[in-house]
Amino acid sequence: MSISAPTQLDIQKIREEFPVLHQQVNGKPLIYFDNAATSQKPKRVIEKLTEYYEGYNANIHRGIHTLAEKATRAYEDTREAARIFLGADHIEEIVFTRGVTECINLVASTYGNEFINKGDEIIIAELEHHSNIVPWQMLCERKGAILKVIPVNDHGEIELDAFKKLLSDRTKIVATNHASNSLGTINPIQEMITLAHEKGAVVLIDGAQSAAHLPIDVKALNVDFYCVSSHKMYGPTGVGVLYGKRELLEKMPPYMGGGEMIKDVTFEKTTYNDLPYKFEAGTPNIADVVAFAEAIAFVNELGKENIHRHEAELLAYATYKLSKLKGIRFIGTASQKVSVLSFVIEGIHHFDIGQMLDTRGIAVRTGHHCTQPLMERFEIEGTVRASFAVYNTKEEIDSLAEGLTRVINFLKS
Ligand code: PMP
Repeated sequence: MSISAPTQLDIQKIREEFPVLHQQVNGKPLIYFDNAATSQKPKRVIEKLTEYYEGYNANIHRGIHTLAEKATRAYEDTREAARIFLGADHIEEIVFTRGVTECINLVASTYGNEFINKGDEIIIAELEHHSNIVPWQMLCERKGAILKVIPVNDHGEIELDAFKKLLSDRTKIVATNHASNSLGTINPIQEMITLAHEKGAVVLIDGAQSAAHLPIDVKALNVDFYCVSSHKMYGPTGVGVLYGKRELLEKMPPYMGGGEMIKDVTFEKTTYNDLPYKFEAGTPNIADVVAFAEAIAFVNELGKENIHRHEAELLAYATYKLSKLKGIRFIGTASQKVSVLSFVIEGIHHFDIGQMLDTRGIAVRTGHHCTQPLMERFEIEGTVRASFAVYNTKEEIDSLAEGLTRVINFLKS
C-alpha cells in the first residue's frame, strides 16, 4: 500500500479557503472527519450566497425586471455547470432537487408509477443508504412489485455473480450507489449498467458519495439516472441534481404540481412545461443553486484526479496508522474505495468513541449511517466512521490515531 505518493495540491492553501476549519472545539483545533455526512464550504460558496441576497435576490423565470433576469441567468448558469460536470449532452436532462433523497423519490414516484407493474422486479444492493431502499420499497408496496437485494462479500463488495443471477426479464430498475457512505466501496457501476441494460432495465446511480471524489461521465456510463447532492461536494445544503436521459424524463409524469411546471392551466386540464421545468414546481432554492456553481468550480479547479490522489493517500495512511490499534476491526475493506474508514473497536461502543473524540476536537460519525441492513449483514449495530476531504491532512490523522489510543486505554482500564 503506497502511503507517500506526491500530490500537486497545496493543502494548506486549500484549508485557508474554509473558514470553519479554523476554530477550536472543546479547547482543541477542530479536526473535521465527517465529510461523508456533509463537507465544509469554501469562502467562495459562502460569499456567493451573500452576493446573491445583497445584489440580485428575485424570483426567477417569470420576471422581466433586471434583478429577476440576473437571478434567472445565475440559476441557469449553475444548470449548465452541472451539465458539464456530469458529462450530459442536454440542459433538459438536468433537474434541480433538494438532494439525492429527493432525486430517488422523484424517479421512484414518477417513473415507478408510470412503468412499474405487479410482479416487476427492482434490484438494489445490500450496501444502499436508506434513501435508496425506502422509496423502492414504497413503490413495490404500491404496485405489488418485488424488491431484490444483491449481497456484498465480507470486504463489502457487491457480488457480481449474484447480481447476474438476480437479473431477469422481470427486472425493470436497478439502483445502487457509486460509492458506499458506510464502507467507502466503489461499485462496478459500468459493468452493472451494461448487464442491466442487456435485460432492458433502467439504472439509477446514487452519486452522493462519488460526486466530490470520482470522475463522472453519464454519457460514457450510458446511465439512465444519476443523483448528486451539492452539500457533499463543498456546496450548500438543499440542492441536488437529478440527471435523467431526455427520452426517459419526457415519458415520465410530473412529480409535484404547482407553478413553473405548467404551460397552461384551466379548471378542466393542465398542460405541463418542457423539461427540465416540468419537474421543478414552485419557487426553487435559488440562492443555494446559484452558490452551488462555485462548489462545482472549486472541484473543477482542483481537479478530481488530484483530489482523489490526495484522499487515497489519506485513506492509505489512516488505514495503516489505525491498523496498529488494539482490538480494531475495519468494516469495509474493498479493493476500490473512496476515502471512508469505518471501524469498530472490540469491547467499546462506537458512541463512546465518538463522544470522547469530540472532547479532543475530532468530529467523526458513529452509528448505522442510514444503512441498517448493511450493519445487520456485518452483525454490528454501527461503526465509527472517519471520512476525508481534500482539506484533511496526515497530521490530523496522527491526532485521530493518538486520540483513539487514549480512548482505548481510558475505556479499557
Ligand atoms: N445516498 C448516500 C450514499 C448518502 O451518503 C446520502 C447522504 N448521507 C444519501 C444518499 C442521501 O443524500 P441527501 O441526504 O443529500 O439527500
